[in-house]
Amino acid sequence: MLFKDVIGQDELKSRLLKLAFANRLPHAMLITECEGSGGMTLALALAQYIMCTAKTESDACGQCSSCIKMSKLQHPDMHFSFPTYRSDAGASKRPPVSNDFIREFREFIQANPYGNDTDWLSFLNTTKQGNITATECRDIISKLQMRSFESAYKILIMWYPEYLDKEGNILLKLIEEPTPGTLMMFVTANPDKLLATIRSRTQLFPLYRLKDTEIKAALIERGADETQSAQYARIAEGDFRKALMLLQHTLNNPDQVLRNWLNAIYTNNGIELVNWIQNLAEQGKETQKRFLEYVIQLLEHVIRFKYIDSAHMTLIESEQKMIEALLKKGMDAYQIREIANLCNESMYEIERNANIKILLHALSLRIQKIVLGQTMAQ
Ligand SMILES: [Zn+2]
Repeated sequence: MLFKDVIGQDELKSRLLKLAFANRLPHAMLITECEGSGGMTLALALAQYIMCTAKTESDACGQCSSCIKMSKLQHPDMHFSFPTYRSDAGASKRPPVSNDFIREFREFIQANPYGNDTDWLSFLNTTKQGNITATECRDIISKLQMRSFESAYKILIMWYPEYLDKEGNILLKLIEEPTPGTLMMFVTANPDKLLATIRSRTQLFPLYRLKDTEIKAALIERGADETQSAQYARIAEGDFRKALMLLQHTLNNPDQVLRNWLNAIYTNNGIELVNWIQNLAEQGKETQKRFLEYVIQLLEHVIRFKYIDSAHMTLIESEQKMIEALLKKGMDAYQIREIANLCNESMYEIERNANIKILLHALSLRIQKIVLGQTMAQ
């Protein structure tokens, strides 16, 4: 990972670059992120920068043998620690350590650098609780006490250290008195859940929530078009992981799909509604949930449109028109809250595998009752 591939975070990047270039990085760093803002990408970029043998003041070279090993997450002086679980398979009765899952972890992080702990555990195909075990902590200590192989540094990235229970205190001595050349980065999305003993011994490097413009540009770079990127960036609210999910799981023109739905509801057109339900029912669960999320967010904009200055709105033209039309029809804050609640409940039920056609039908009728005060002809 190069710094230039990390989205946004310009101030933090330049702070880290200066410290690293001057060889003044603290040996225990706490990198805190807001969900989907890229803590892991930044840690990886910093680690690669430190290991690179041909770095400049602004980035690693991306081509030296260290960079190539780092890009595959296979540098011998680079260690990773992350939540694992005890699998039923395998004869070993000892608690799991990260090394048991390192191949899967490399594959996962390379494909999903903005992924989170939930994505990781579902990538491992387990519903079990993740954990960072005491055995893992001892493993880390012995790895970091060894001399480095190729670099002057030994780096540990611990991803989601909040999974450490009290056993994390085993690491305190290492954090306080590391062997020379040791650098530890703890990357967390929930610093409040991290052991206070670790928090107090590390120096804080917080990431900020990504800006819509940064997410939009990154989506365009990944092949999304201008309109989609603007829409998804707005819905993602600073969470790039969410923006990528939208890109993967969103209907092509959610605004058009919503307009068709509202048309069927407002005009009491049963046939149109059945067709609409049929179409959405054919999509995957994630897509259906993303659509409802889109509806909720757009409804929030109706309120903003009505009561708050609309100058900073990032809506596309067709969405603005739809909102104006809804306001003309008399949609108010009370109705919006009711509809948003219904959509929220439906998302939850979709997650729990409700029958999608029945669910969408019931949802449509309930929304109609809210906006027209009556139900459709059955
Ligand atoms: Zn390099």
